[in-house]
Amino acid sequence: MRIIRTIRQMRKEIPALRNKGQTIGFVPTMGAFHEGHLSLARKCRRENDICVVSIFVNPAQFGPREDCKKYPRQEKQDIRLAKKENVDIIFYPSEKEMYPASFLTHSRKTSVSTFGLTRVHIARLSNKLCGEFRPGHFDGVTTVVAKLLNIVRPDVLYLGQKDAQQAVILRQMIADLNFPVRVKICATVREPGGLAMSSRNAFLTPQQRKEAAVLYASLKEARQKIRAGEQNPGKLLRQIKQRIIRRSSAQIDYAACVDADSLDPIKDIRSHKRILFALAVRLGGTRLIDNIVVSGK
Ligand code: AMP
Repeated sequence: MRIIRTIRQMRKEIPALRNKGQTIGFVPTMGAFHEGHLSLARKCRRENDICVVSIFVNPAQFGPREDCKKYPRQEKQDIRLAKKENVDIIFYPSEKEMYPASFLTHSRKTSVSTFGLTRVHIARLSNKLCGEFRPGHFDGVTTVVAKLLNIVRPDVLYLGQKDAQQAVILRQMIADLNFPVRVKICATVREPGGLAMSSRNAFLTPQQRKEAAVLYASLKEARQKIRAGEQNPGKLLRQIKQRIIRRSSAQIDYAACVDADSLDPIKDIRSHKRILFALAVRLGGTRLIDNIVVSGK
């Protein structure tokens, strides 16, 4: 496994692999690997000649009061885990490598919405759901992923369903800006109790971790009710919220029932093929998200 820290080196190595006719799969991450990340790396490994994983805690996607500084970083362990999965290349750039002074000119680095002069903004989709609570967050995500796609130039991009809105937005960006890459969305990997794996789970106390299982339990309950004939999204969302409030100390940012592609709110379950139930809560100081896709038709 090669660890490459500069864009220059990537530009040397990737074309050489391409010229040999090798296919390149790519998994962008912020590190602190768990089974969710590793499941993406495994799929990427299986389906491509070359498996590239990037590790970069992207400051452009964190708000000024968010957890960029204290986001878990565990370089040695991540490298060991990636090796075990037979990853070929880890792209591990520094902040300066991704955002040199020329990128940051005339901007304040402290606020997500003034980070750099250049940014990729996917209108409408970026302002809904998490975008309402984290202004500028998805611009940070799309900007860094656009940069990474230009650096890695993969054939296939692997993303997790765990970050459903991110996946929808990145698909839109890739289609609209004609990035020559296919996108594969991989299933959410969960703890035995149902909690979606996340690097942020490390911040939870044992008690909060137990309580956090209510997120997935409430989503599953909604799915069961739909299967049993319930068609009213408002009623389902009220039940989800009630269950979370009763069984945990979580503060709910939102619980939403939207079309899985447009992210527009749904009025009638039966008139949509793929319905996304999405949740964001804060448990102590930790923000958790989860979602489930249900077929309505
Ligand atoms: P992150 O390091 O949180 O930016 O995540 C990197 C990639 O891993 C993203 O595409 C995430 O959606 C995906 N991912 C994170 N957690 C999970 C999970 N529990 N199951 C599946 N994919 C995940």
